[in-house]
Amino acid sequence: MTDGGMADVDVVVIGLGPGGEATANKLARAGLTVVGVERGLVGGECPYYGCNPSKIMIRAADALAETRRTAQLAGPTTVEPDWDLVAERIRTEATHDWDDTQSTNRLLEAGVTVVRGHGRVVGARSVEVEGTTYRARKAVVLNTGTCPGAPPIDGLEGTPYWTNRDVVKVAELPRSLAVLGAGPIGAELSQAFARFGVEVTLLDVADRVLSAEEPEVGALLAEVLAKDGVRVRTGVDIESVSHGDAGFRLHVDGEPVVAEELLVATGRVPQLQGLGLDTVGVDADVRHLETDTQMRVLADGRTVDWLWAVGDIVGKGAFTHTSIYQSSVAVRSILGKDGPEADFRAVPRVTYTDPEVGSVGLTEQQAREAGRDVRTATVDLAESARGWLHEVGNRGLIKLVADGDELLGATSVGPAGGEVLSMLTTAIHGRVPVSTLRSMIYPYPTFSESVRSALARLG
Ligand SMILES: Cc1cc2nc3c(=O)[nH]c(=O)nc-3n(C[C@H](O)[C@H](O)[C@H](O)COP(=O)(O)OP(=O)(O)OC[C@H]3O[C@@H](n4cnc5c(N)ncnc54)[C@H](O)[C@@H]3O)c2cc1C
Repeated sequence: MTDGGMADVDVVVIGLGPGGEATANKLARAGLTVVGVERGLVGGECPYYGCNPSKIMIRAADALAETRRTAQLAGPTTVEPDWDLVAERIRTEATHDWDDTQSTNRLLEAGVTVVRGHGRVVGARSVEVEGTTYRARKAVVLNTGTCPGAPPIDGLEGTPYWTNRDVVKVAELPRSLAVLGAGPIGAELSQAFARFGVEVTLLDVADRVLSAEEPEVGALLAEVLAKDGVRVRTGVDIESVSHGDAGFRLHVDGEPVVAEELLVATGRVPQLQGLGLDTVGVDADVRHLETDTQMRVLADGRTVDWLWAVGDIVGKGAFTHTSIYQSSVAVRSILGKDGPEADFRAVPRVTYTDPEVGSVGLTEQQAREAGRDVRTATVDLAESARGWLHEVGNRGLIKLVADGDELLGATSVGPAGGEVLSMLTTAIHGRVPVSTLRSMIYPYPTFSESVRSALARLG
C-alpha cells in the first residue's frame, strides 16, 4: 500500500470527532481501506470536553437542587455538596483521564488505520499527514469540528480565562465565577456551579439568556437562574477584562465585576484554517462549509465529488447527534447506497439547564422571516395536572409554531423537556398534521399533555 511517503487507500477521514469516528468505523466495516487522521483525542470534543463531562456536572447539580426541594415536598434534608465526586466521575468515567485508548481501539478493531497528526488536503483526493501523503480513491471526509472562540474584548487575550476545555478539568471550585456568554454552555454551567455554591455572574451582550431560542425561554430561564443564585446580566456592554492577584476584573456597563475565575463561552470557531482547502478551490474563510444533500462539499455552488464534510463545520446544528446523522448520510453516499438525503427541518436542540430547554424546527421569528402564515400557542406547564402535582421544580412551557395544518417548530421547556421534545421532533420530521396530533391520546398526568393543550390553543 505505501510507496515511500505515499499510500493509496479508499478513504481518508480528517478529524475523528463523533461524526468522523462513526464514518471511519462504518466504512472500514463495509470493507474499505480507511485512514482516520486525528491530531488530538479520538472521539473529539463531546466525550472529553463537551457533552459528557458537562452532563456529569449537571446531573450532580440537579441532584442537589432536587434534594433541596424535599423541604417543600417531603420534609427537610441537609446536603453537603462535594465537587470531588464530580471531578472524579469526569476523570474516570467520562474521559478516562483524557485518554482515548478505548475509542482508538474501537476503530482499530473495525480495521481503521489511525494516524496521529495534523491532516491537510494537498490537492484533489490527497491528504498529507506528518510527511506521508494518502491518496484516497473514493473519498476524503472532513470532520475537523470547532474550537472555543473568544470575543474581541479589550484586555481579554492573554488573561488565564477558562474555556470548556479547562472547566471540565476543574478539581477545586472557585469562590466566584464570571461567565461570558449566556448560550447553552454558559447557561448550563452557570446553573451547575451556582448549585454547588459558587457565586456566579452570567454576562451577555444579547438581551436575553439563550438568545437563539424563543423569547419566552429567555425570560423563564433568567428567573430560574436568579433563583439558583446566578446574577444574570444580559444586554450589557463588556468593555474590558483584566487579571491580577485578586482574580478577574471586568468592566461591564462602566462598573466593575470581579470574580476569581472567568469562563468564556461565547461561541465556537470552525477549524477550517490550515486544512489546505484552498488547494482544491474550497473557501476556508467561511463560518461553515456548504454541502449538498449527500454531505458532499460545494465549491462555488458545484459539488466536489470526492470531498464530504460532517459535524460542526457544516453549520446545520453543532451537536453530536447532527454529526452522527450527517455521518450516516455520508457513509451511504460514499458506498453508493440508496437512502434518504440529508434533511435538516427537524434538528432537535436541547439545553440541559433545569428546566431543560428543548426545541426543534423554526422559532416564531424564523417562521415569520420565512414568510409563513404563522400561528402560535403557548402553554405554561404549571397549568397541567403533572405540573401542579410535581410542584416545586415544575417551571416550563410548550410553545408551538404552525402554518395551517403544518407544525413548523416547537419548544418544550420543563423537567425532562428534552425528552418531551422527541414527540414534537417526530411530528415535524414525519410531517404529521396538526389535526392528527390533536386527535391522538395523551397519557394522564404527563408533561406531554401540555402539547395537547397547546394544540387546542392553536385554534
Ligand atoms: C461544553 C460543551 C457541551 C456540549 N454539550 C453537547 C450536548 O449535550 N449534546 C450535543 O449534541 N452536543 C454538545 N456539544 C457539542 C458537541 O461537542 C459537538 O457538536 C460534537 O463534538 C460534534 O463535533 P464534530 O463531529 O464536528 O467534531 P469535534 O468533536 O469537534 O471533533 C473534531 C476533531 O477533529 C480534530 N481535528 C481538527 N482539525 C484536524 C486536522 N487538521 N487534522 C487532524 N485532526 C483534526 C480535532 O482534534 C477533534 O478531535 C457540546 C459542546 C461543548 C463545548
